[in-house]
Amino acid sequence: MFGILGKSVSTGIVTTSYPATAPELSGRARGRPEIDWANWKDARPAARVCPTGAISHEDSGDRRVARLDLAKCIFCGLCAEADTAIRVTNICECAARARQDLLTAATYSLKPDLTHNKLLDAPSSSAAGRRERTAGSSEALERLGGQIKAQVEKIFGRSLHIREVDAGSCNGCEVEIVALNSPVYDLERFGMHFVASPRHADMLLVTGPVTRNMELALKKTYDATPEPRLVVAVGACGCSGGIFGQNYASLGGVDNVLPVDVYIPGCPPNPFALLHGILTAVGRLEPREVRPEPRTGGV
Ligand code: SF4
Repeated sequence: MFGILGKSVSTGIVTTSYPATAPELSGRARGRPEIDWANWKDARPAARVCPTGAISHEDSGDRRVARLDLAKCIFCGLCAEADTAIRVTNICECAARARQDLLTAATYSLKPDLTHNKLLDAPSSSAAGRRERTAGSSEALERLGGQIKAQVEKIFGRSLHIREVDAGSCNGCEVEIVALNSPVYDLERFGMHFVASPRHADMLLVTGPVTRNMELALKKTYDATPEPRLVVAVGACGCSGGIFGQNYASLGGVDNVLPVDVYIPGCPPNPFALLHGILTAVGRLEPREVRPEPRTGGV
């Protein structure tokens, strides 16, 4: 007994203070790639090596629209190896409330050899996208959005029950989700718990591209979850179908089957990324908070 107490005292508190502090990540952790859009000479080499089509381009005449879709990105770093204008960061807080917030695009004029001549349109980021949509939306819609957000914060802000649904994942996301219950990340300090039945759940945390075999089970799970309910798509597969996309066995991203409230990119997203996405869904954090890069040398 005294031995156990002594060990607890000598170990001290291992729980991260995230989100009050930045995520503490290993220097080798891989997060979202960043493109130096102004000095990007050619989108083609990175697009050629990107295994999921997260980097793509569309040429028309002497113009090229180049895109980076974080929903498809598996953070593999191949683009950074192929192109010095791209670097892989360890930034993992990438969750977004809308699919298009994960898409960044820029327009270039082209030289005769099809390399970039000039950046014509500054890359439209998620923040810019959010601003545009806000400016364009009607006052009534804004009011309704505000009411829904306030309701979600009121209902789920202090307590949330989560049902995890594997709709066809490789279980990489599940390994990270299980870590949320460890003393290091300790999801329960936020009043959040995993439950075994959708009937007790407020949120569905859905992983994997939705396989055709799991489509009906996922829809039934959603129907069995009482309203108001939140759906969070986890990982590149959940956000977009990832490396699998849509095919004879896979329906692609979760939003092809259910309405999704928050997307958490990554392959798999680490526990900090998951916490960021879940807290974003219940309105305790803003999507993609402006933070310095995560500290290195941690867990
Ligand atoms: S990190 Fe990998 S998946 Fe992501 S854009 Fe680069 S090559 Fe594509």
